Amino acid sequence: MEKVLVTGGSGYIAQHCIAELLKKGYSVRTSLRSENREAEVRQAIAKEVDAKNNLEFCQLNLNEDEGWNDAMIGCSYVLHVASPFPFKEPKNENDVIIPAKEGTIRALKAAKKANIKKLILTSSVAAIQYGHDDPDKVFDHNDWTNIEGKNVTPYVKSKTIAEKAAWDFMESQTEKIFDMTVINPSFVLGPSLSDDIGGTSTDTIKRFLTREIPAVPNIYMNYVDVRDIAKLQVEAIKNSKSNGKRFACTSNESVPLLDIAKTLSTNGFPKVTTKTLPDFVVKFLALFSAEMKTMKTFLNQKITMDNSQTVDVFSWTPIPFEKTIIDMGKSIQDVMDNR
Ligand code: NDP
Repeated sequence: MEKVLVTGGSGYIAQHCIAELLKKGYSVRTSLRSENREAEVRQAIAKEVDAKNNLEFCQLNLNEDEGWNDAMIGCSYVLHVASPFPFKEPKNENDVIIPAKEGTIRALKAAKKANIKKLILTSSVAAIQYGHDDPDKVFDHNDWTNIEGKNVTPYVKSKTIAEKAAWDFMESQTEKIFDMTVINPSFVLGPSLSDDIGGTSTDTIKRFLTREIPAVPNIYMNYVDVRDIAKLQVEAIKNSKSNGKRFACTSNESVPLLDIAKTLSTNGFPKVTTKTLPDFVVKFLALFSAEMKTMKTFLNQKITMDNSQTVDVFSWTPIPFEKTIIDMGKSIQDVMDNR
């Protein structure tokens, strides 16, 4: 049985990757910042698959050297998923840039040392589509975010800098090492396996369900289902056509947040508001709130992506929008009902 190291096992996306790997017959070692979250992670994975004896844990911190070489012993593949993804942008951008970049380099160096066959890196469309002025541009895997551009947030910088560092590392090798595929998801939605629904994706939907979002700002987003991301990351392990490439894993068109609200509201979540929040209110509130300030930078921005390389290489048929949103609403409501 081939073993895969998945970094950041407490995370929303990583848990779906772990479940998918176990279903596909791999054994999994996953890293946590603190091993006392093991029981909680096991419980989350058990919602999807019986891990039997094929799931083990280790401790890793993106900011520390300790443990990386040992974590990869006996593994054939690595899914490097862990990276800070805070709901609120930090005051000091290095709080996210340093762990994202240095954690990625730690993962790559240890993978080389352990003779890993292939590493799959979870990057983001944040590394593709920001800092450009052309509103009509269609973005794809060939594009890179311009971190010197307008409205580039610390998180966006962190993902761009970390992914660039990974490709630079691969290019600097004089001999062939492992293969690498980079997966660049847009906003990830879909059910949570974990009862920890404080992550950026899950918290957004929770705020709709609890009416913490009393009116919906004019924000648009490209999205992808978390189950599709897990499937693509796991398929990338054996899909040699994906070697040395990055993949925009996303809807091509951006959808308004209001469509998410309406889908929830008409499918069993009547508390969800479908009132809109006028732009001038967001701009006014941005004077006082860091969250609103981030929101203001995204007002009315529609981005068109071209995901055709992902569709071709993986024969990918994305999960439909309504299923993604309804399944996510149900999973988050379940967690809140059981508290
Ligand atoms: P989560 O916040 O749920 O998961 C992030 C994971 O990274 C957690 O396991 C967290 O551990 C871990 N982590 C953060 N900082 C450190 C650190 N210093 N040392 C060790 N582990 C750390 O987010 P997602 O699952 O949504 O995101 C996972 C990946 O996917 C990230 O790389 C993110 O950038 C990327 N992504 C996510 C998108 C989304 O919409 N969700 C979109 C595009 C990309 P802990 O639980 O201890 O904090």
